[in-house]
Amino acid sequence: MRIVFVASEVLPFAKTGGLADVCGALPLELEAAGHELLIIMPYYKEVGTKPSFNDRACVDTVGKGVKVYFIKNKAFFGRSSLYGENMNDYPDNLERFAFFCRETLELLKDIGQPVDIIHCHDWQTGLLPVLLKDPYLNDPFFVQTKTVFTIHNLAYQGVFPKEEYAKLGVDARFFNDGQVEFYGKVNLMKAGIVFSDYVTTVSPQYAKEIQTKEWGCGLEGVLQERKGRIVGILNGLDYERWDPGHDGFIDPSYTPQDQLAKKIHKVKLQKISGLPVMSDIPVLGFVGRLCYQKGFDLVASSFEGLVQRPIQMVFLGVGEKKYQDLLKKLARNNPGRFAVHVKYDEDIAHQVYAGSDFFLMPSVYEPCGLTQMIALRYGAIPIVSGVGGFLDTVFDFVSNKKQGNGLVLPSYSVSGLLESVDRALGFYNQKDKFAVMIAHAMNCRFTWAEAVKHYIEVYNECRS
Ligand code: ADP
Repeated sequence: MRIVFVASEVLPFAKTGGLADVCGALPLELEAAGHELLIIMPYYKEVGTKPSFNDRACVDTVGKGVKVYFIKNKAFFGRSSLYGENMNDYPDNLERFAFFCRETLELLKDIGQPVDIIHCHDWQTGLLPVLLKDPYLNDPFFVQTKTVFTIHNLAYQGVFPKEEYAKLGVDARFFNDGQVEFYGKVNLMKAGIVFSDYVTTVSPQYAKEIQTKEWGCGLEGVLQERKGRIVGILNGLDYERWDPGHDGFIDPSYTPQDQLAKKIHKVKLQKISGLPVMSDIPVLGFVGRLCYQKGFDLVASSFEGLVQRPIQMVFLGVGEKKYQDLLKKLARNNPGRFAVHVKYDEDIAHQVYAGSDFFLMPSVYEPCGLTQMIALRYGAIPIVSGVGGFLDTVFDFVSNKKQGNGLVLPSYSVSGLLESVDRALGFYNQKDKFAVMIAHAMNCRFTWAEAVKHYIEVYNECRS
């Protein structure tokens, strides 16, 4: 099959979150499975200089022969960030990504070889399946082309005032509440869900959750209508990129059989975080965006209880100012116990994964989550809330004695979090047993090869 990935961020060129990891890894796995892959993304400033393909795009190659095309437009994409600055979205995001979608289709025609599947990701590409209904419906170049739309995070929907609809360049009749309209506004995530041939999301559990009122973010009705054409496919982890046995960011390396270096990494982490070096109490790490989703409100309300326990905590992240300020304040008030690095930093991220004993992720919701998979790989035992992709990857030691690889909060509450931390302390203090738990965690695998099988089924289903 000839498959095109269209996404607003792709590793190694531009990343703000897990979307980039997925769109960097999955195409290469599909290529390895024998398919022909292209990737199309915006030509952001941070992509650097790439050779020109034509007036519309520059080009590069990843993997064995996956061509990556970068849609040019200096005014739209030559900015310092991907989506916004100073905590505000760029006001012209609808225009930027509508342009991206339209140019993508024109670029495919420039390239000249028809494609079987256009695989779109998140709201930034939600317009694309609509464009194939108008104005490209009768374009012979796209007759055999089917679209798949993947929801990476339903909470970010690309909602804009109705006055902007005209800028999309599609028929006015689609602006109705069964299609692109959402409470009087334009909703590009909804457009992608309604107009694509198949909808996927990034874990089986999240696929179920988003069809409920509680987690559907207002789109549960639309999703329920597409019930037979929605599937949750668990993201894989790139186990070559994330490997404590061969990791350019950390030295020395370690393996499940020889975990000794983990102790060295704990000391390093404590030092770079300004925490006293102590080996007898566990370090709880966190890496991720500082936003409501990741559960800082629960961390804040549990904090008094947390610092009464013999633990240290190290958080790494950037995001909303209110959470940055909150975490900085907690660090100031609890020196030696809690440290925060407010930045985006690959080096420190690897050090947190390698140096932490536990990895705390009390997300309010979690479509899939990569960080708990990375934490497992580095032997930092995850402590997670019982939602979304966590339930597909973290199995509690108690309820799942054989498969157990972490701790799942018994309830989303202060007592639930503290109870889990107490259980974690209990495990930590049984040194021999804890080493076995770490080895087991490090050996857990959630592979792209497995995900690829399911994506190919979806692509085939679209074409049948
Ligand atoms: P989301 O997509 O919700 O942001 P994921 O868990 O799916 O969360 O993926 C987050 C990815 O971004 C992981 O690879 C994580 O290591 C990385 N990451 C997040 N914040 C930072 C940061 N401040 N510094 C370095 N890496 C980060």
